[in-house]
Amino acid sequence: MDAAVELPLLEVGSESFKPLEPGHLDSMLTSTGAGIVLSGMLTVAVQAVCSRCLREFPLDVTAEIEGFYVEEGQEAELPEEQEFGFIVDGSVDIMEALLTALALELPFAPLHAQDCPGICPQCGADLNDGPCACGPDLSRSPFSALAELLGDDTPKE
Ligand SMILES: [Zn+2]
Ligand SMILES: [Zn+2]
Repeated sequence: MDAAVELPLLEVGSESFKPLEPGHLDSMLTSTGAGIVLSGMLTVAVQAVCSRCLREFPLDVTAEIEGFYVEEGQEAELPEEQEFGFIVDGSVDIMEALLTALALELPFAPLHAQDCPGICPQCGADLNDGPCACGPDLSRSPFSALAELLGDDTPKE
């Protein structure tokens, strides 16, 4: 099943990502004895905000989708750790599975470029436009060093 899916604003922690287009979902629903299994891939381009310089940039996200759905009443037979949704009137609502999968793929600290220099902590200038008058030494605060240490949570291509 190939489908276009309208997605809401995606929020992860303090970041939010606005879908730039409907998501592209390539998925399969398989009926097993125990319930219905959803599997597939979702891709969507979202608008992210760089966590260093606050610039908006497009980010492609691909998420592996999994879901499991049972008729109401059947959930008692499932193992405790099994996550599931309900089949209602013969159909399943897969949106929660999509949003859960996307939340796992979206970066906690999006960067518009791996080496984004961010904003000068002294004068607020966007250092992507070149060095500011504060000079290179003052632009390195303990926080920018920390940001570099934490900075490998970067957007995946
Ligand atoms: Zn940036
Ligand atoms: Zn400056």
